[in-house]
Amino acid sequence: MSGSAEARRYDAIVVGAGLSGLYSLHRLREQGLRVLVLEAADNVGGTWLFNRYPGARCDIESVEYSYSFSAELQQEWSWAELLPGQPEIEAYLNFVADRLDLRRDIRFDTRVVAMAFDEEDASWLVETAGGELFVAPFVVAATGILSAPLDPGIPGLDTFDGTVLFSNRFPREGFDLTGKRVAVVGTGSTGVQAIPVVAEQAEHLYVFQRSAAYTLPSPARPYEPGEFEGLRSRYDEIRAAQRVAHVGAARTSAFSVLVDMAGFPALRTASREERLRAVEERGVLGALYWSDVLVDPEAGRLATALYGEAVARIVRDPRTAASLVPTYPFGCKRPIIDVGYYETFNRDNVTLVDLRAGAIEEITPTGIRTAQGSYDLDVILFATGFDALTGALSRIDVRGRGGALLGDLWRDEGPVSYLGLQVAGFPNLFTIQGPGSPSAASNFLAAMEHHVEWIANCVAYLRDGGGSTIEALPSAQAEWIDEVLSFVTGSVLVHPDCNSWWNGANVPGKKRMYTTYVGGLPEYRRRCDEIAAGGDTGVRYSGFKIS
Ligand code: FAD
Repeated sequence: MSGSAEARRYDAIVVGAGLSGLYSLHRLREQGLRVLVLEAADNVGGTWLFNRYPGARCDIESVEYSYSFSAELQQEWSWAELLPGQPEIEAYLNFVADRLDLRRDIRFDTRVVAMAFDEEDASWLVETAGGELFVAPFVVAATGILSAPLDPGIPGLDTFDGTVLFSNRFPREGFDLTGKRVAVVGTGSTGVQAIPVVAEQAEHLYVFQRSAAYTLPSPARPYEPGEFEGLRSRYDEIRAAQRVAHVGAARTSAFSVLVDMAGFPALRTASREERLRAVEERGVLGALYWSDVLVDPEAGRLATALYGEAVARIVRDPRTAASLVPTYPFGCKRPIIDVGYYETFNRDNVTLVDLRAGAIEEITPTGIRTAQGSYDLDVILFATGFDALTGALSRIDVRGRGGALLGDLWRDEGPVSYLGLQVAGFPNLFTIQGPGSPSAASNFLAAMEHHVEWIANCVAYLRDGGGSTIEALPSAQAEWIDEVLSFVTGSVLVHPDCNSWWNGANVPGKKRMYTTYVGGLPEYRRRCDEIAAGGDTGVRYSGFKIS
């Protein structure tokens, strides 16, 4: 990449106009910076623009999965649903973009393909797919942790005569599945959300399952008349509780089950009657709500067996019920919440294809051929996930000091980072929700707000005379990764059977490494803020080199 002379200069460039990029723009602009946002899509929203599949829904309550930095935004926006669906969040992010007049600094349909740090100029040269060049001393990568779709990698896909859909780029205008023979491939969060809705529309639904999911019934519902107005008047209290909550969500969320478990009795010492009563009263939740399930492997095994009994009480066909029971411990993946998932398998028009009994071999002009038989189809909907956490940035040619390529570093060393905010060797490049931060193990919105504020304060410090570059020290980065890993050593999160996007196991060839900080958002915030302030040493931004 060359030609910084012709490039346009800004004080900061933000890549991505999802909810992180929008707040980054607003915050940096408020500090008087000339900011440019480069966004590959034609609108704001990121995740909530692309993932328009039937049933797409947030797993955190709306009053907590929303910006807390502006009282005006909180008072002017009305949430209709407890756990908002994709259309409502997309509308909210468009409202925010308009209300804060953000669009004038966003360049849409502009994909960043390369970024190189110019050591002499202490700035980043950013190149787009259209060949445009931009320069800024600071880059904020707001490219998303779940925004780099994985190719299903099944031979014959282009020979299929029917329609191929992808959950993470579902058609804007929707797609009518009425009267169609539909396959949903994948039973992670997306598949679990989509399957009940697709089953209601399709003539027949075939669910292709490689690995069964633990999925918890969701309390998704519209707010009762007047209910949201009551909450709106209590935002201060809601935000205060959220701020001290381990996962950045104190109300209804996918994490509620994990947070609540400690208060229950131990499964290991419970009698058979107590276990069955729990399942009778609370269904699948009754199998998991025990204090020892996450900490004692034997209790974890008992919980999985009990979960199987709970599923068998819902799903009438015993073979299907057995196939729906996971073979890895509960807690090793982000909990999934669903609306009527297991009940869907009692419908006459739904067939579970358990791929453990015979994998997909190819896609043919008429459907999917597996080692256990062929299925004639009109539509295949892939819900096959993402190259998470590092995927979006690795797909950009990001070159730091000495021309080192970020993608190579992460491929060889795993997803290393200091605090999830910077990678050593890549000065002035800030990552929102980078590896080693609470990201995937938290309410993303709450964790993101902290990141944006930390970055904005750091940029203000540098511009106020603190220095022209900041970069993570390799030693601090190594110590941080050790600290992150120390939280999960011996836990279900590093169990050998736990293949998840959390540890990269879903991407062929990706280095397997768990790097999400699970020490809790309040403690993480405290650490980051202490590092910025200098703590006992008084040296600001310890672990970073400022020059
Ligand atoms: P994104 O929303 O992913 O936005 C990133 C933006 O960067 C995109 O617009 C993308 O086009 C752009 N971009 C990427 N690369 C480039 C490039 N090279 N050039 C230009 N632009 C680029 N989190 C929760 O806490 N709760 C949930 O319930 C939840 N549900 C989710 C459901 C789905 C289906 C997915 C995929 C994620 C979910 N998440 C959830 C995580 C979610 O990604 C975040 O909550 C949030 O939307 C991320 O915002 P973001 O702005 O950081 O990233």
